[in-house]
Amino acid sequence: MNKKQTSNADDELVQFADETAGSSPGSEKAPVRPWSVLIIDDDEQVHSATEFALTGVQIQGRPLHLLHAFGEQDARHILATTADIAVIFLDVVMEREDSGLKLVKVIREELGLKEVRIILRTGQPGYAPELQAIRDYDINDYRNKSELTVTRLVTSLTSAIRSYEQIRALSYSRKGLEKIIQAAAELFEVRALETMAEGVLTQIAGMLGFPPHGVVCAQRGVPIDGSNSELFYVIGAVGKYSHAINKPLDALGSRPIETAIRMTIQQQQSLYTPEHTVLYLNSNGREEVVYIETDKVINPLDQQLLEVFAANISIGFSNVYLFQRLNFLAYNDPVTGLPNRRRLVDEMDLMKRDPSEPFQVLLVDIDHFSAIHDVFGTSLGDVVLRSVAERLLSRMPDICHLGRYGGDTLCLICNTEAFAPETVLQVFAEPFQVSGCVIPISVTMGGCASALGADGQELMKNAALALNRAKHSHRGHYLMYAEEMSTETRYRLDLLQSMRMAINEKQFQLYYQPQIDMETGQVTGAEALLRWMRPDGQMISPAEFIPLAEHSGLIMEIGAWVMQEAFRQQRQWIDEGLSNLKLSINISTHQLKPPTFSTDLQAALLAYQLDPSQIVLEMTESMIVDDEERAIQCLNEFKRMGFQIALDDFGTGFSSLAYLQRLPIHTLKVDRAFISNIGKLGHGERIAEMIVALSKLLQLNVIAEGIETAEQVRVTRSWGCRIAQGFLFAPAMPPGEFMAWVRQRNAAHDAKKQ
Ligand code: C2E
Ligand code: MG
Ligand code: MG
Repeated sequence: MNKKQTSNADDELVQFADETAGSSPGSEKAPVRPWSVLIIDDDEQVHSATEFALTGVQIQGRPLHLLHAFGEQDARHILATTADIAVIFLDVVMEREDSGLKLVKVIREELGLKEVRIILRTGQPGYAPELQAIRDYDINDYRNKSELTVTRLVTSLTSAIRSYEQIRALSYSRKGLEKIIQAAAELFEVRALETMAEGVLTQIAGMLGFPPHGVVCAQRGVPIDGSNSELFYVIGAVGKYSHAINKPLDALGSRPIETAIRMTIQQQQSLYTPEHTVLYLNSNGREEVVYIETDKVINPLDQQLLEVFAANISIGFSNVYLFQRLNFLAYNDPVTGLPNRRRLVDEMDLMKRDPSEPFQVLLVDIDHFSAIHDVFGTSLGDVVLRSVAERLLSRMPDICHLGRYGGDTLCLICNTEAFAPETVLQVFAEPFQVSGCVIPISVTMGGCASALGADGQELMKNAALALNRAKHSHRGHYLMYAEEMSTETRYRLDLLQSMRMAINEKQFQLYYQPQIDMETGQVTGAEALLRWMRPDGQMISPAEFIPLAEHSGLIMEIGAWVMQEAFRQQRQWIDEGLSNLKLSINISTHQLKPPTFSTDLQAALLAYQLDPSQIVLEMTESMIVDDEERAIQCLNEFKRMGFQIALDDFGTGFSSLAYLQRLPIHTLKVDRAFISNIGKLGHGERIAEMIVALSKLLQLNVIAEGIETAEQVRVTRSWGCRIAQGFLFAPAMPPGEFMAWVRQRNAAHDAKKQ
């Protein structure tokens, strides 16, 4: 029979291949995908007859690819290893009478192949499987082998292939929709965009009747963080291109695809060629491209359908992207792109779930970062942060998470208990090269081991506490959190709380320590020293609470009270006949910050009618060094107002001689630490002697602090120091006691003179 004479309803779909078509040399058309058809039969003749009958047949423009199985085992193997088999011709009776039906059960139930169409064939006329079996196992057709003329065979095969195609399209479409819906549910997860892309691809493939592989989705900019908007990135892919997800386009390894995608973006319209369909999506300026490999030009009707679909889907993409971006910003630092504090806390919560895997969290604070900002500008500061992060990541294999804690502080989470923070310090041994500048960077760190906190939040808090400590006492080094730190912090917080109350409840008092002229034995002045007596009778040392008051800002209120109280006391003494006492008041440089300080001083002088030359403002050397310019400016003003100025605790700071000459001061107070070294080994005594000599050179008064022994009196006097203060004479005393002490001493002195 002449195959070309076949005539039936499916004729227009069935063609016989033109021997020359498609094989011309240099033809660049993509190879057309054949339909895979599996023939299962134990009769060799049936195989060759079918093969002969179907030679050269094309269905819907696609050739056939015949696969042969001669028994159940054979068939199982082919079915398990070959994808996309469209139709199976299955012999009902093989080894056993029911071999065929059994195999159908395997195909549908065991192998789960629901889409493949099955045509049963039997050699025994009159034998037919029950209708029930045909329905249950979704069998397309049942034929007697003798009926298998070319026409019948092709007709039967054509309708089976059409039905296979429809079933496939429906199934892709369903899978695609499922993915798109899943993407909506995953909006808050990193993968949402990828899932959405995969859904769109599967859906479109379903609409076009192509299997969903060789399909790519691209957009401008790195997915998620949106950086580097000049490059095109793959956001989703199914099948053979899935390795390229989240990578730039060239990761696809296919020039033609890249070119097609770029062309689509450039022309801002979809591209339909025999080899591919490239859809252009644009919503609010965000562009995406969906690339699908095809083997023919999509017909105009389908093109229209696709355009409508593309318009809708691009809004969906836009929404998913927006959500992703919001999600990204909630958990990442926008400047460095690194995870933020919240994300790091979440990561630690996750890691905490496995107590057998201890870890450490380490906060790395860049020293003097504000100076880098001031000198080089904010943007370079950000670059520095990024370079530090990059260097840490590249040099430290133990890091499992690196993020930004905030400001100039990065946070590392290391997954080994044995991790040594020293290794981080070594990373900073070499300077950094940033925008052509060489910047040496040092860091101070605080850390906490995973065992020392219940959850991520607590671990972070403990590491921050350790960092805070390290910044005060271990600059350029590190401190690991220990439980005592929390106890101490709680104590300090309690103290701060009660200090607030102490001001209102008048628990503060000024004590006065006399200053003596060692030559005449006379009391020349007194230093006002603050005392805090708590309601339970506990005395708290100013050395403990003053730094806390300075840190919290409470020093403003406390300092103002001290000034008023000391001035009031001075007035009272003058009124009671003690008019030659110089009164020293300790001033913290924090008090100098508000510009009103000197006007307050002036107002208090007026109110109590005091002579400023009888008042000494004491400031510690180390505090002045912190903000030298401002301090010098204030001291000059105090001097102009007529006050005396003393440099307290001299010798413990960092003053150079040149610096000392710039300070408008009248008196140096030699720190107790040097005086207590008199007569002992070491340099202490020598330093004290030099300070006294220096004050002579600069024509300054000098006071020896903390004189406790007669020997110290003798030695300091031999250097030429006249005034002293110390327990040898008297400790600081409440005003009444001080008054009595001075009166008694003056009386004794007068008696001695007579
Ligand atoms: P400072 O100004 O250097 O005060 C001298 C400290 O040495 C006082 O300690 C005093 O009691 C102590 N002292 C005096 N003679 C001797 C001695 O012979 N042996 C020993 N071991 N100690 C002696 P205090 O009263 O505990 O004050 C400690 C620091 O607290 C003061 O050091 C001062 O820096 C600060 N302070 C005290 N009152 C105030 C205040 O009203 N305002 C401010 N801003 N700071 C204050
Ligand atoms: Mg003092
Ligand atoms: Mg002192």
